[in-house]
Amino acid sequence: MSDKNYYKETEEAFRRKREARESDRRARLEQVHITVPQLVEIDAALAKTGYKIMGGLREGADVKEMTAAIKAENESLRQRRRELLKKNGYPEDYTDVKYDCEKCGDSGFVNLDMCSCMIKAVADARLADSDLGRLSETQNFESFDLTYYAEGAERATAYTIYEKLYSYAKDFNSKTEQGWLLLGGTGLGKTHLSTAVGIEVIKRGYDVEYKTVQSLLDDFQAVQFRGGDVRGVDKYYDCDLLIVDDLGAEMSTQFTVSCIYNLINTRMNKRKPTIFSTNLSADEIRDRYGDRIVSRLLGEYQPLRFVGKDIRHQRLCRRRGKI
Ligand SMILES: [Zn+2]
Repeated sequence: MSDKNYYKETEEAFRRKREARESDRRARLEQVHITVPQLVEIDAALAKTGYKIMGGLREGADVKEMTAAIKAENESLRQRRRELLKKNGYPEDYTDVKYDCEKCGDSGFVNLDMCSCMIKAVADARLADSDLGRLSETQNFESFDLTYYAEGAERATAYTIYEKLYSYAKDFNSKTEQGWLLLGGTGLGKTHLSTAVGIEVIKRGYDVEYKTVQSLLDDFQAVQFRGGDVRGVDKYYDCDLLIVDDLGAEMSTQFTVSCIYNLINTRMNKRKPTIFSTNLSADEIRDRYGDRIVSRLLGEYQPLRFVGKDIRHQRLCRRRGKI
Protein backbone atom coordinates (compact mmCIF):
# COMPACT_ATOMS: atom_id res chain seq x y z
CA MET A 1 0.00 0.00 0.00
CA SER A 2 1.28 3.48 -0.77
CA ASP A 3 2.23 6.02 1.88
CA LYS A 4 -0.77 8.20 1.19
CA ASN A 5 -3.24 5.42 1.86
CA TYR A 6 -1.84 4.61 5.28
CA TYR A 7 -2.17 8.25 6.34
CA LYS A 8 -5.60 8.59 4.79
CA GLU A 9 -6.84 5.41 6.41
CA THR A 10 -5.41 6.33 9.79
CA GLU A 11 -6.95 9.82 9.67
CA GLU A 12 -10.26 8.22 8.75
CA ALA A 13 -9.95 5.76 11.67
CA PHE A 14 -9.21 8.67 14.01
CA ARG A 15 -12.26 10.56 12.72
CA ARG A 16 -14.48 7.53 13.35
CA LYS A 17 -12.97 7.12 16.82
CA ARG A 18 -13.66 10.79 17.65
CA GLU A 19 -17.25 10.47 16.47
CA ALA A 20 -17.75 7.33 18.54
CA ARG A 21 -16.32 9.03 21.65
CA GLU A 22 -18.52 12.07 21.06
CA SER A 23 -21.62 9.94 20.62
CA ASP A 24 -20.78 8.00 23.82
CA ARG A 25 -20.52 11.31 25.62
CA ARG A 26 -23.90 12.46 24.28
CA ALA A 27 -25.49 9.19 25.39
CA ARG A 28 -24.06 9.58 28.92
CA LEU A 29 -25.26 13.18 29.01
CA GLU A 30 -28.80 12.25 27.96
CA GLN A 31 -28.81 9.55 30.62
CA VAL A 32 -27.76 11.85 33.48
CA HIS A 33 -30.19 14.53 32.33
CA ILE A 34 -32.91 11.98 33.00
CA THR A 35 -31.57 10.64 36.30
CA VAL A 36 -30.34 14.01 37.64
CA PRO A 37 -32.75 16.62 36.20
CA GLN A 38 -31.04 19.54 38.02
CA LEU A 39 -28.16 19.10 35.58
CA VAL A 40 -30.33 20.14 32.62
CA GLU A 41 -30.61 23.67 34.01
CA ILE A 42 -26.91 23.87 34.90
CA ASP A 43 -25.83 22.68 31.44
CA ALA A 44 -28.19 25.15 29.78
CA ALA A 45 -26.69 27.96 31.87
CA LEU A 46 -23.14 26.87 30.99
CA ALA A 47 -24.04 26.75 27.32
CA LYS A 48 -25.09 30.40 27.47
CA THR A 49 -21.58 31.72 28.20
CA GLY A 50 -21.18 33.12 24.66
CA TYR A 51 -24.56 34.88 24.79
CA LYS A 52 -23.73 36.40 28.15
CA ILE A 53 -20.47 37.83 26.84
CA MET A 54 -22.13 39.19 23.69
CA GLY A 55 -24.95 40.72 25.76
CA GLY A 56 -22.50 42.35 28.16
CA LEU A 57 -20.49 43.78 25.27
CA ARG A 58 -23.63 45.26 23.72
CA GLU A 59 -24.50 46.94 27.00
CA GLY A 60 -20.99 48.39 27.22
CA ALA A 61 -19.90 46.43 30.29
CA ASP A 62 -16.28 46.46 31.41
CA VAL A 63 -14.82 43.43 29.57
CA LYS A 64 -12.39 42.46 32.30
CA GLU A 65 -14.97 42.68 35.08
CA MET A 66 -17.60 40.91 33.02
CA THR A 67 -15.41 37.97 32.02
CA ALA A 68 -14.17 37.56 35.60
CA ALA A 69 -17.80 37.48 36.80
CA ILE A 70 -18.87 34.98 34.15
CA LYS A 71 -15.83 32.83 34.86
CA ALA A 72 -16.61 32.76 38.57
CA GLU A 73 -20.26 31.97 37.88
CA ASN A 74 -19.32 29.13 35.49
CA GLU A 75 -16.85 27.71 37.96
CA SER A 76 -19.50 27.60 40.66
CA LEU A 77 -21.93 25.95 38.20
CA ARG A 78 -19.29 23.34 37.32
CA GLN A 79 -18.60 22.76 41.01
CA ARG A 80 -22.33 22.27 41.63
CA ARG A 81 -22.41 19.91 38.63
CA ARG A 82 -19.54 17.77 39.96
CA GLU A 83 -21.21 17.57 43.38
CA LEU A 84 -24.54 16.51 41.87
CA LEU A 85 -22.90 13.81 39.75
CA LYS A 86 -21.00 12.51 42.75
CA LYS A 87 -24.05 12.59 44.98
CA ASN A 88 -25.92 10.48 42.43
CA GLY A 89 -23.19 7.89 42.22
CA TYR A 90 -21.42 9.06 39.02
CA PRO A 91 -17.76 9.95 38.60
CA GLU A 92 -17.22 13.74 38.48
CA ASP A 93 -16.02 13.58 34.87
CA TYR A 94 -18.78 11.20 33.77
CA THR A 95 -19.99 13.41 30.92
CA ASP A 96 -16.54 14.46 29.65
CA VAL A 97 -15.27 13.07 26.34
CA LYS A 98 -12.83 10.24 27.07
CA TYR A 99 -9.91 10.56 24.67
CA ASP A 100 -7.26 7.91 24.09
CA CYS A 101 -4.72 10.70 23.64
CA GLU A 102 -5.14 13.80 25.80
CA LYS A 103 -2.37 15.55 23.86
CA CYS A 104 -4.32 15.82 20.60
CA GLY A 105 -7.87 14.94 21.73
CA ASP A 106 -7.71 12.04 19.22
CA SER A 107 -7.45 14.48 16.32
CA GLY A 108 -4.01 13.11 15.41
CA PHE A 109 -2.58 16.64 15.25
CA VAL A 110 -1.16 19.11 17.71
CA ASN A 111 -1.42 22.43 15.89
CA LEU A 112 -0.09 21.49 12.45
CA ASP A 113 2.24 18.74 13.64
CA MET A 114 1.26 15.12 13.53
CA CYS A 115 0.80 13.81 17.08
CA SER A 116 2.99 10.93 18.26
CA CYS A 117 -0.15 8.79 18.62
CA MET A 118 -0.91 9.13 14.90
CA ILE A 119 2.70 8.46 13.87
CA LYS A 120 2.50 5.29 15.96
CA ALA A 121 -0.87 4.30 14.47
CA VAL A 122 0.50 4.66 10.91
CA ALA A 123 3.59 2.64 11.87
CA ASP A 124 1.43 -0.07 13.46
CA ALA A 125 -0.72 -0.29 10.31
CA ARG A 126 2.39 -0.64 8.17
CA LEU A 127 3.87 -3.22 10.49
CA ALA A 128 0.65 -5.24 10.53
CA ASP A 129 0.61 -5.28 6.71
CA SER A 130 4.29 -6.05 6.39
CA ASP A 131 5.93 -9.45 6.50
CA LEU A 132 7.73 -8.02 9.53
CA GLY A 133 4.52 -7.82 11.58
CA ARG A 134 4.60 -11.45 12.70
CA LEU A 135 8.32 -11.18 13.57
CA SER A 136 8.16 -7.92 15.52
CA GLU A 137 7.77 -9.66 18.90
CA THR A 138 10.76 -11.97 18.57
CA GLN A 139 13.23 -10.58 16.05
CA ASN A 140 13.99 -7.16 17.51
CA PHE A 141 17.19 -5.52 18.80
CA GLU A 142 16.26 -6.26 22.43
CA SER A 143 16.00 -10.01 21.79
CA PHE A 144 19.36 -10.26 19.98
CA ASP A 145 21.39 -12.52 22.26
CA LEU A 146 25.16 -12.08 22.11
CA THR A 147 25.78 -15.11 24.32
CA TYR A 148 25.28 -17.33 21.26
CA TYR A 149 28.60 -15.99 19.95
CA ALA A 150 31.77 -17.41 21.50
CA GLU A 151 33.55 -15.05 23.87
CA GLY A 152 36.41 -13.18 22.25
CA ALA A 153 36.71 -12.27 18.57
CA GLU A 154 33.43 -13.89 17.55
CA ARG A 155 31.33 -12.00 20.09
CA ALA A 156 33.22 -8.77 19.41
CA THR A 157 32.40 -9.08 15.70
CA ALA A 158 28.74 -9.75 16.43
CA TYR A 159 28.65 -6.79 18.79
CA THR A 160 30.22 -4.47 16.22
CA ILE A 161 27.66 -5.53 13.60
CA TYR A 162 24.83 -5.14 16.11
CA GLU A 163 25.99 -1.64 17.00
CA LYS A 164 26.36 -0.55 13.38
CA LEU A 165 22.88 -1.73 12.44
CA TYR A 166 21.34 -0.41 15.65
CA SER A 167 22.70 3.09 15.02
CA TYR A 168 21.70 2.85 11.37
CA ALA A 169 18.10 2.05 12.31
CA LYS A 170 17.90 4.65 15.07
CA ASP A 171 19.34 7.38 12.84
CA PHE A 172 17.49 6.36 9.67
CA ASN A 173 16.00 9.33 7.82
CA SER A 174 14.82 10.33 4.37
CA LYS A 175 18.40 11.09 3.33
CA THR A 176 19.81 7.68 4.34
CA GLU A 177 21.39 6.01 1.30
CA GLN A 178 23.74 3.49 2.89
CA GLY A 179 22.91 -0.11 1.94
CA TRP A 180 24.25 -3.26 3.58
CA LEU A 181 25.26 -6.68 2.44
CA LEU A 182 24.96 -9.16 5.31
CA LEU A 183 27.18 -12.14 4.63
CA GLY A 184 27.66 -15.42 6.49
CA GLY A 185 26.35 -18.95 6.92
CA THR A 186 22.88 -20.06 7.99
CA GLY A 187 21.67 -19.19 11.48
CA LEU A 188 24.25 -16.55 12.36
CA GLY A 189 21.77 -13.75 13.06
CA LYS A 190 21.54 -12.02 9.66
CA THR A 191 17.77 -12.33 9.40
CA HIS A 192 17.29 -11.41 13.05
CA LEU A 193 19.22 -8.15 12.72
CA SER A 194 17.87 -7.16 9.30
CA THR A 195 14.35 -7.73 10.65
CA ALA A 196 15.19 -5.65 13.72
CA VAL A 197 16.34 -2.81 11.45
CA GLY A 198 13.12 -3.03 9.43
CA ILE A 199 10.88 -2.95 12.51
CA GLU A 200 12.73 0.01 13.99
CA VAL A 201 12.65 1.98 10.73
CA ILE A 202 8.90 1.32 10.29
CA LYS A 203 8.34 2.52 13.86
CA ARG A 204 10.18 5.71 12.96
CA GLY A 205 7.49 6.36 10.34
CA TYR A 206 9.21 5.08 7.18
CA ASP A 207 7.96 2.82 4.46
CA VAL A 208 9.81 -0.52 4.65
CA GLU A 209 9.40 -3.60 2.48
CA TYR A 210 10.82 -6.84 3.80
CA LYS A 211 10.88 -9.90 1.54
CA THR A 212 12.68 -13.15 1.07
CA VAL A 213 14.26 -13.07 -2.37
CA GLN A 214 11.94 -15.81 -3.61
CA SER A 215 8.72 -14.06 -2.64
CA LEU A 216 10.02 -10.79 -4.08
CA LEU A 217 10.77 -12.51 -7.39
CA ASP A 218 7.37 -14.23 -7.32
CA ASP A 219 5.81 -10.76 -7.30
CA PHE A 220 7.94 -9.65 -10.28
CA GLN A 221 7.07 -12.85 -12.14
CA ALA A 222 3.36 -12.32 -11.49
CA VAL A 223 3.58 -8.89 -13.13
CA GLN A 224 5.80 -9.99 -16.01
CA PHE A 225 4.15 -13.27 -16.95
CA ARG A 226 0.71 -13.33 -15.42
CA GLY A 227 -0.49 -9.79 -15.97
CA GLY A 228 -0.36 -8.83 -12.30
CA ASP A 229 -0.82 -5.24 -11.18
CA VAL A 230 2.42 -3.33 -11.72
CA ARG A 231 1.83 -1.45 -8.46
CA GLY A 232 2.55 -4.75 -6.74
CA VAL A 233 6.24 -4.31 -7.59
CA ASP A 234 6.59 -0.52 -7.79
CA LYS A 235 6.80 -0.48 -4.00
CA TYR A 236 10.09 -2.39 -4.22
CA TYR A 237 11.59 0.44 -6.27
CA ASP A 238 10.08 3.26 -4.23
CA CYS A 239 9.96 2.26 -0.54
CA ASP A 240 12.24 4.09 1.90
CA LEU A 241 14.05 0.88 2.83
CA LEU A 242 13.99 -2.48 1.07
CA ILE A 243 15.23 -5.59 2.88
CA VAL A 244 15.84 -8.70 0.79
CA ASP A 245 16.52 -11.82 2.78
CA ASP A 246 18.38 -14.91 1.63
CA LEU A 247 19.74 -13.76 -1.72
CA GLY A 248 20.88 -16.90 -3.54
CA ALA A 249 18.05 -19.10 -2.24
CA GLU A 250 15.94 -18.41 -5.33
CA MET A 251 15.66 -20.48 -8.50
CA SER A 252 18.10 -18.64 -10.69
CA THR A 253 17.13 -17.78 -14.28
CA GLN A 254 18.01 -15.02 -16.70
CA PHE A 255 14.80 -13.29 -15.63
CA THR A 256 15.56 -13.40 -11.90
CA VAL A 257 19.13 -12.15 -12.42
CA SER A 258 17.97 -9.22 -14.53
CA CYS A 259 15.21 -8.46 -11.98
CA ILE A 260 17.75 -8.25 -9.18
CA TYR A 261 20.08 -6.14 -11.30
CA ASN A 262 17.27 -3.70 -12.18
CA LEU A 263 16.20 -3.49 -8.59
CA ILE A 264 19.71 -2.70 -7.34
CA ASN A 265 20.29 -0.19 -10.12
CA THR A 266 16.96 1.59 -9.88
CA ARG A 267 17.16 1.95 -6.12
CA MET A 268 20.70 3.22 -6.34
CA ASN A 269 19.64 5.81 -8.94
CA LYS A 270 16.80 6.87 -6.68
CA ARG A 271 19.26 7.00 -3.76
CA LYS A 272 17.14 4.57 -1.78
CA PRO A 273 18.86 2.14 0.58
CA THR A 274 18.58 -1.65 0.42
CA ILE A 275 19.76 -4.41 2.73
CA PHE A 276 20.59 -7.81 1.26
CA SER A 277 21.43 -10.86 3.31
CA THR A 278 22.97 -13.95 1.79
CA ASN A 279 24.62 -17.24 2.67
CA LEU A 280 26.72 -16.98 -0.49
CA SER A 281 30.38 -15.98 -0.47
CA ALA A 282 31.61 -13.16 -2.71
CA ASP A 283 32.86 -15.72 -5.25
CA GLU A 284 29.55 -17.53 -5.25
CA ILE A 285 27.72 -14.24 -5.80
CA ARG A 286 30.00 -13.56 -8.78
CA ASP A 287 29.40 -17.04 -10.23
CA ARG A 288 25.68 -16.76 -9.84
CA TYR A 289 24.93 -13.17 -10.80
CA GLY A 290 27.92 -12.07 -12.85
CA ASP A 291 30.27 -9.12 -12.57
CA ARG A 292 27.69 -6.39 -13.05
CA ILE A 293 25.78 -7.33 -9.92
CA VAL A 294 28.76 -8.27 -7.82
CA SER A 295 30.55 -4.99 -8.52
CA ARG A 296 27.49 -3.06 -7.40
CA LEU A 297 26.82 -5.22 -4.38
CA LEU A 298 30.40 -5.24 -3.16
CA GLY A 299 31.19 -1.73 -4.35
CA GLU A 300 28.19 0.21 -3.09
CA TYR A 301 26.91 -1.80 -0.15
CA GLN A 302 28.80 -2.06 3.08
CA PRO A 303 29.55 -5.72 3.76
CA LEU A 304 29.04 -7.11 7.26
CA ARG A 305 30.45 -10.59 7.76
CA PHE A 306 28.64 -12.63 10.41
CA VAL A 307 30.66 -15.31 12.19
CA GLY A 308 29.90 -18.04 14.73
CA LYS A 309 27.93 -21.27 14.99
CA ASP A 310 24.36 -21.81 13.84
CA ILE A 311 22.20 -20.16 16.52
CA ARG A 312 19.12 -22.24 15.72
CA HIS A 313 21.16 -25.37 16.34
CA GLN A 314 22.61 -23.94 19.57
CA ARG A 315 19.15 -22.97 20.78
CA LEU A 316 17.95 -26.50 20.22
CA CYS A 317 20.92 -27.87 22.20
CA ARG A 318 20.30 -25.40 25.03
CA ARG A 319 16.66 -26.44 25.22
CA ARG A 320 17.57 -30.13 25.24
CA GLY A 321 20.16 -29.42 27.92
CA LYS A 322 17.46 -27.99 30.14
CA ILE A 323 15.20 -31.02 29.89
ZN1 LIG B 1 -2.35 12.22 19.98
